[in-house]
Amino acid sequence: MYDIQKIREDFPILQREVYGKPLIYLDNGATTQKPRCVVDAITEEYYSVNANVHRGVHFLSQQATELHEASRETVRKFLNAKSSNEIIFTRGTTESINLLVTSFGEEFMSEGDEVIVSVMEHHSNIVPWQMLAARKGISIKVIPMNDKGELLQDEYAKLFSDRTKIVAVTHVSNVLGTVNPVKEMIAVAHAHGVPVMVDGAQSVPHMKVDVRDLDADFYAFSGHKIYGPTGVGVLYGKEEWLDKLPPYQGGGEMIQTVSFEKTVFNELPFKFEAGTPDYIGTTALARALDYVSAIEMDHINAHERELTVYAMQQLKRIPDMRIFGEAENKDAVISFLVGNIHHLDMGTLLDRLGIAVRTGHHCAQPLMQRLGIEGTVRASFALYNTKEEVDALVAGIERVRKMF
Ligand code: PLP
Repeated sequence: MYDIQKIREDFPILQREVYGKPLIYLDNGATTQKPRCVVDAITEEYYSVNANVHRGVHFLSQQATELHEASRETVRKFLNAKSSNEIIFTRGTTESINLLVTSFGEEFMSEGDEVIVSVMEHHSNIVPWQMLAARKGISIKVIPMNDKGELLQDEYAKLFSDRTKIVAVTHVSNVLGTVNPVKEMIAVAHAHGVPVMVDGAQSVPHMKVDVRDLDADFYAFSGHKIYGPTGVGVLYGKEEWLDKLPPYQGGGEMIQTVSFEKTVFNELPFKFEAGTPDYIGTTALARALDYVSAIEMDHINAHERELTVYAMQQLKRIPDMRIFGEAENKDAVISFLVGNIHHLDMGTLLDRLGIAVRTGHHCAQPLMQRLGIEGTVRASFALYNTKEEVDALVAGIERVRKMF
């Protein structure tokens, strides 16, 4: 049974008030709140284990290293990767994508080569490709979508050419909530001999992700969006691909030997992890993954789906409501505008009622251009949100609407 009250008790921040009102936190797409066990993991390690990993013979260093590498194994299991060599720790999705674009672009792309992205990408899966385009003269092809916010699969299939080197696509849109059929899209790309990088920032927190079942070549996500700490993320890559890619950054950890004449790079996964890693963060991330695994991703998904369907039904009853993103397969994100009320005004007034939503372009300006708007109000759900909170959101919107 999904015991929502018990789950909520794990998150101390949910007990607080803002402006004298109980906090209703619906900005989970931006970041999630942390259960006590995750924060405890951080303090416990700082208080009793802290030492730099990988390079110490002393007790604490070895213990910290064991924790850090055990966390890698936890991530491996969570994604069902074949080997922990395939789990690269980064600062988050953004760094994971920058790593991939820089290393893959360096090794496998030259002037005239093409990357396929979608119209609903977050800036972090657009701008790094544009920077590569400026450096190397590659070009960016864009998969269009229909008005429901679903990628046009026929158009996608037509974008491949003999210059296509990689596809980089989001699993779930952070604006529309669309769950893209990435497994099928990967199969299409593979039929052309093209690898695929999936941006999993908005999928990993909400559904079971099995990188081997998807056959993804690369998969990126952020710890802080799945109840883990800020500053830690993951790039999964198939070992056969990672072996072929050059390092992203140079420094300690990522080398085997260094002389002024020649440096020999370390093996996987360390080749991509220059410098001291956030080993406290990786422990806390593993604790977060253990936390959601204990509840079970399928139960979390069912709860959030139910909440999303309910919220869509209730929101649609509000006059002048415009919802952006009505895909058949839609996850825990709802973007909307009401009449002519500016998204910032709506967000600010909802905040005064204790309701935290996000407003603006959500780092997806090309998508805003496609929708012909400047921004939206976005409510995004997590495992601890309730129908009562959705009701409060709906009542809050009604109140704001009547004020205008
Ligand atoms: N990709 C998507 C789809 C996102 O929603 C986000 C963050 O909102 C990112 C990438 C970037 O994640 P981070 O800021 O944690 O690197």
